[in-house]
Amino acid sequence: MSEGQQRHPAYLWWNGQQRAWEDATVHVTDLGWSTVGAVFEGIRGYWNPDTEQLHVFRLAEHLRRLAMSTKLVRLPLAYDEAALTGAITDLLTANESREDTYIRPLAYTGKTSGKRFAQIGSDAELLINTHPMPSHLGTGMTYTAKVSSWTRISDNVMPPRVKNLSNYRNGQLAGYEATLDGYDTAFLLNTRGQVAEAPGACVMMIRDGKLFTPDSGASILESITRDALMTMAREVLGMEVVERGIDRTELYMADEVFTCGTAAEVTPVVDIDKYPIGAGEIGPVTAELDRVFQDVLRGRESRYGQWRTTVDMPVLAPVS
Ligand SMILES: *Cc1c(COP(=O)(O)O)cnc(C)c1O
Repeated sequence: MSEGQQRHPAYLWWNGQQRAWEDATVHVTDLGWSTVGAVFEGIRGYWNPDTEQLHVFRLAEHLRRLAMSTKLVRLPLAYDEAALTGAITDLLTANESREDTYIRPLAYTGKTSGKRFAQIGSDAELLINTHPMPSHLGTGMTYTAKVSSWTRISDNVMPPRVKNLSNYRNGQLAGYEATLDGYDTAFLLNTRGQVAEAPGACVMMIRDGKLFTPDSGASILESITRDALMTMAREVLGMEVVERGIDRTELYMADEVFTCGTAAEVTPVVDIDKYPIGAGEIGPVTAELDRVFQDVLRGRESRYGQWRTTVDMPVLAPVS
């Protein structure tokens, strides 16, 4: 493979079967408007080198959200949770995914050539592909952020709760603005003028030993990571967790702020609009949650076993 080209696994899953990566092609005119109506999932598998197992995090919840996303955009999905669970675990085994891996199911309307939009009721085509994605947990990575001049989409405009692809221009514009202004990420406020989320990640704030996060009516995506972190903060760290509207000045006054999500994992935000957050470095609660989360994800912690779908990899032949 030439340099600069992304390394890709041998197989993907497309419309009912596992196929060689190279064989999954479409005619260019079929692309059309297909992605306007697409929905997707972002799922991660975490490799445990000691047990040689890949742990897929909360696969059932991700597949249920995929079903909810397709329902909301009126895109019938021909595969149930059991079929997709099998498709994903088989794909990871076939690809011998012995490393941290991102798994992306994408449901879209195919064969849109010559049509402006897909007909309502056309069955979704479904692609599932995987690629390596190392975790940044425990690496000390931190972000700076700005409050965006863009407003987060609201529930009567686009469905913010689900992973509807056309929603993402909103976060992308906020992300571009933040980057051009010299920040790592953005916080979008909702139409109520309160904190909603970062592009592709939810927001959590620690103040006086309590964990606060915008409530599910704040135009946020219904994040599975957010739910897991709230649960672990309560049950492992013994913290009080409060879901409520958060004002921007509360972020500036917080002891700790971090974003969370499948891609974001736990990302500490140490500076917002040039206000240092707390001591301007990773805070103790964020560090502790990061540590507990890593152990849960890699199956080093016996608790929350119901969140892990464990995929055994074929035994490697000994090097002779
Ligand atoms: C995926 C996503 C999140 C995080 O959700 P998880 O279920 O934790 O991955 C947050 N916001 C948006 C807009 C997202 O797309």
